[in-house]
Amino acid sequence: MHKLLFATFNRHKQEEAAAILAPVITLISPSEVNYKDSPEENADTVEGNALIKARHGYEQCGLPCFADDTALEVMQLNGAPGVHSARFAGLDHDDKANRQKLLAELSTFDQPHVARFRTVIAYIDPKGEEHLFEGIVEGRIINEERGTNGFGYDALFVPDGYSTTFAEMTDIEKNFVSHRARALAQFKSFLLQ
Ligand code: IMP
Repeated sequence: MHKLLFATFNRHKQEEAAAILAPVITLISPSEVNYKDSPEENADTVEGNALIKARHGYEQCGLPCFADDTALEVMQLNGAPGVHSARFAGLDHDDKANRQKLLAELSTFDQPHVARFRTVIAYIDPKGEEHLFEGIVEGRIINEERGTNGFGYDALFVPDGYSTTFAEMTDIEKNFVSHRARALAQFKSFLLQ
């Protein structure tokens, strides 16, 4: 049994990860170990940002720790918002503003708005060694928001093979197919080796 810090304050991510990693890994909540603040995510790749967050958690708490970073890549926008997905509508803007900006940018393009989510998990093991795991899900961006579950761009993203957005799925359904679930599954296999 591993006990690990997942260096994020995002409740949705904590819940998704806890469901996938159990029973191999128990997540330590940030409040249990006095993990208080997130670092600035200023790398120019998702790998770099995931490492910034994992190193920050490891240094602050002295525990094996992992973190993730996600990019939404839309083909008609040449891969944007990409590594800038969290701050697409500006540094002090929220998920809703990011989704509105995405719809505005895509309004002059025809469907399908082919897109994918890419997540990278960075793990710092008990020896301080760094490991990366990737998960991708392909799909498309629709023209209006649908669904109220989830977070971020979930209400706009329909994965290939489905007709519902991530925000219309239950947690279990999203975890069956999502980018983060795929990266977490690889991470879990690594820990089981
Ligand atoms: P970060 O990995 O938390 O920095 O996420 C980058 C951006 O992608 C943020 O705008 C998040 O809200 C969004 N995002 C991350 N994971 C997901 C997801 O599973 N679904 C929808 N949006 C996500």
